Amino acid sequence: MPLEHDKKTEFAEWYSEVVKKAEIVDNRTPVKGANVLLPNGYGIWENIQKILDRELKATGHNNYYFPMFIPEELLNQEAEHFSGFAPEVAWITHVGNRKLERKVGLRPTSEAIMYSMFSLWIRAHTDLPLKVNQWCNIVRWDTKETKVLLRDREFLWHEGHTAHATYEEAEEQVKESMRIYEKLFDDLALSYIILKRPKHDTFPGADYSVAYDAPLPDGRVLQIGTTHNLGQNFSKAFDVKFQKPDGDHDYVYQTSYGISTRIIAAILSFHGDNKGALIPPKVALTQVIIIPIYFKNKHEIVKEAANKVLETLKNAGIRARADLRDNYTSGWKFNQYELLGVPLRLEIGPRDIEKNQVVLVRRDNGEKITVPQDQLVKKVKDTLDAIEETLRQKAWKRLEESISEAKTFEEIEKIYNEKRGIIRTNWCGNPECADVLKEKLSVEIRGTKLNEEEEPFHSCVVCGKEAKQVVYVASAY
Ligand SMILES: [Zn+2]
Repeated sequence: MPLEHDKKTEFAEWYSEVVKKAEIVDNRTPVKGANVLLPNGYGIWENIQKILDRELKATGHNNYYFPMFIPEELLNQEAEHFSGFAPEVAWITHVGNRKLERKVGLRPTSEAIMYSMFSLWIRAHTDLPLKVNQWCNIVRWDTKETKVLLRDREFLWHEGHTAHATYEEAEEQVKESMRIYEKLFDDLALSYIILKRPKHDTFPGADYSVAYDAPLPDGRVLQIGTTHNLGQNFSKAFDVKFQKPDGDHDYVYQTSYGISTRIIAAILSFHGDNKGALIPPKVALTQVIIIPIYFKNKHEIVKEAANKVLETLKNAGIRARADLRDNYTSGWKFNQYELLGVPLRLEIGPRDIEKNQVVLVRRDNGEKITVPQDQLVKKVKDTLDAIEETLRQKAWKRLEESISEAKTFEEIEKIYNEKRGIIRTNWCGNPECADVLKEKLSVEIRGTKLNEEEEPFHSCVVCGKEAKQVVYVASAY
């Protein structure tokens, strides 16, 4: 029961199919872009939450919950920030039949609501740093066509927000958030390019933004995480001041960063194939599916053995399940769990019981491994690690292959028509040249390498004037 659409040649159709058939999301909801995350999809998110939450707490963050309602005047307080989100803010204008005097927005992000509270909480340097994390939903009512997990009107995320006494500490915080994110991406076996966004594409109100762009198989990139150094822009707008040890007052320096359920789209796109999803072991709802191989009148013995294996794996902290149903064939079950993306299958039948062994089958390459019962836990753990490593290597190879270089507009056009991907080129710094690229080729200047000054190797790819930067250009989701 492989998928109807081919991942290589019909990526968009393949993606829509895998999201549904792998039971990640059900989008047959009454409001477009507000979907149901099913257990196999929400399980990925829960495991991401566990990994991130642990890291955030270990680095001094505390979890808070702020209201999702943000009055218009509060959003207006940082004009640049607000204008960046204004087109996508959903407003509550009525309660029952009564029109509200002040309309209330549903959070498109939480800077405004959080920092209005920071101004009440922060008094002295001893209150700093303040490191806040929030797990919540976000509403951005994009009027463009919605795309499951890629462009949803309601989605889930985590947002980190910090306040510091100095710019240097804020810089350190940006780096810390990056270390946390890169560790997570490694667990997910995703590859990415780290770029400092150009000024015209910086998060509204930020000093600068750093983003992680992951190369999808169709040659477009997907931003899977961002971190912003906000400087004092928001603290001045929201009056977040503190008293320094010398008695003077200053505005705090801030950072914010986030990762959303969009990352699930990257996971599916990177690792899935024509058989279905392939969920990396660290975040899979089910890491091992145990399938009993029933034979003649040996059902009870096989069931008992399967249950024993299940017990052993669970006790070892492995997320295992057994499908003991006897109204489905083993072949049907193999296909079904391959479709769902369970990374490892464990088969056990009468002959295996006699020989005191089980058979492992890897979802990534179909390899079969016979394992003596007494090595079960170790072999399962090793194989899950090996699957993750294979996925990781493939992912980084994809990034490498997706980057090409262009000196002229014609070269960009040619690469774009052939394979898209990430194009390294030269730019004069003028946003008008960026607009030309966007209008003519639907590609964006995604940014420059972070902490690495690259010498331009040609004139500006659009206007031919002197180039100031080496930039990376791509078509983005
Ligand atoms: Zn130019």
